[in-house]
Amino acid sequence: MTVRTRFAPSPTGYLHIGGVRTALFNWLFARKHGGQFILRIDDTDQQRNVEAALEPILEGFRWLGLDWDEGPGVDGPHAPYYQSQRSERHQAAAKQLLDTGFAYRDYATTEEVQAERGAAEKEKRDFVYSRRWMAETDEQAAAFEAEGRQFVVRLKMPREGKCAFHDLIRGDVAFDWAKEQDHVIQRGDGSCLYHLASVVDDADFEITHVIRAEEHLSNTPRQIFIAQSLGCKLPEYAHLPYVAEPGGTAKISKRKLDKYLKNRDFKSLCDHGNAIAAKIGHETSADTFNPVIVDFYREVGYLPHAIINYLLLLGWSLDDKTEEFTRDEMIQHFSLERVNNSPASFDPQKLSAFQMRHMQQLPIKQKVALVVPFLQKAGFVASPPPCDTAPLLTKIVEAAGDRLKTAGDILEFDEFFVADAELQYDEKAFEKRVRAEGAAALLKGFRALLADTEPFDHATCEAALRSFIESKEIKIGDIIHALRVAVTGKGVGVGMFEALEILGKDRCLARIDRCLERADSAAS
Ligand code: GLU
Repeated sequence: MTVRTRFAPSPTGYLHIGGVRTALFNWLFARKHGGQFILRIDDTDQQRNVEAALEPILEGFRWLGLDWDEGPGVDGPHAPYYQSQRSERHQAAAKQLLDTGFAYRDYATTEEVQAERGAAEKEKRDFVYSRRWMAETDEQAAAFEAEGRQFVVRLKMPREGKCAFHDLIRGDVAFDWAKEQDHVIQRGDGSCLYHLASVVDDADFEITHVIRAEEHLSNTPRQIFIAQSLGCKLPEYAHLPYVAEPGGTAKISKRKLDKYLKNRDFKSLCDHGNAIAAKIGHETSADTFNPVIVDFYREVGYLPHAIINYLLLLGWSLDDKTEEFTRDEMIQHFSLERVNNSPASFDPQKLSAFQMRHMQQLPIKQKVALVVPFLQKAGFVASPPPCDTAPLLTKIVEAAGDRLKTAGDILEFDEFFVADAELQYDEKAFEKRVRAEGAAALLKGFRALLADTEPFDHATCEAALRSFIESKEIKIGDIIHALRVAVTGKGVGVGMFEALEILGKDRCLARIDRCLERADSAAS
């Protein structure tokens, strides 16, 4: 048997972090068993433009490296993979269920069913439809139709016993059939409902393992009933606990951001992302740009592998200690048996820690490649980048070191990219460091020394500064802070001598002159 798993997104316009975790587990399970991972698009209730609403989802998968063997853009032997294009298959299945007596035409009006439901509620008993308007023969149907009634197709569900099945994560589960309704599978207009479509498609696609979010556990009995009634082989089921909100147990949702923002770590994740997005003019409406949506991480320059590694451990563990996995190791070790069966809470701090670690391990060349698109979006580097930018970018990225937590953080080092005449000053730092008693005079003195410094590299600049403080009998702090503000506009940043070397002599001198002029003009 070839393992075949699927992820079945509805085209909602965004990829939910919990959805990715579900997709990841499906992907890993398929890869581990040398099987196939299929993307099926659940678009039957779709009003909007499906392609437009699907694209961010597919883009998210591509970015994360979760490739699919069959589905949109790839096709495959079971095409089409869009549920909306499979309605003939669903209708044929509804007809088969009618013909075999597992479903019936129901001529009740909505009000009539509602009235029965209301009565049950009043009497505090479970609602069981009376089947009063059920037609199992053409004669019965003709009689109802003579009254001007229309029908929907309902499942004729068992009313006794239990639906028992083995879930690969939850173990043995059982639901009372009596608590199930005669679910509608086909509307009056002939269109079929989701659960029928889902079962038919899974069977057509030869899905062997349905690995999905736990909210679908309660749908499983009716889906099993449909599958068995159609004579389909049942897949194995595995219901994953959901990704819970930070610090809580409720399912994480992009609609509850106000609540999550009270969590300090979540807020700082958001703030960091918003700051980067603002620098590249990316739209930051909380509805489309927040940590519940995968696109957020792409826009901020997270590493896809850090996200994947973090999500892997959100609900699965190999042992108590191993945290980092390469793709191959994930595939090798993954098993459904080791999936947790209680919700795992989304932990922004842990995610950031993964990101930082993976970023630290990345070869410098790759870091440079990752920052380039951000610099281009901010207009700091041309597209394509001039061929001589790589050495300079390498130096900047090296100087940034661990301050570069995400690729987008490169924009914090804008001082290296703006024109000298456009350098912005941190006013507080300017006030404190450049306007300090005697600071401007020292800066002027050191400028003269720098003008003669050759070669203008880290070591020589450092030696020049050391000799300067010795000759003036001052402390390093008396000059270096003012120098930093003059050259970078900021009170903190990369190593001072790295900054000098990166900018080069001409630019440093021009910046010091501009700073001194500014100090002068403000003083006068
Ligand atoms: N489209 C459904 C969802 O997004 C898929 C359900 C399933 O996996 O069976 O929840």
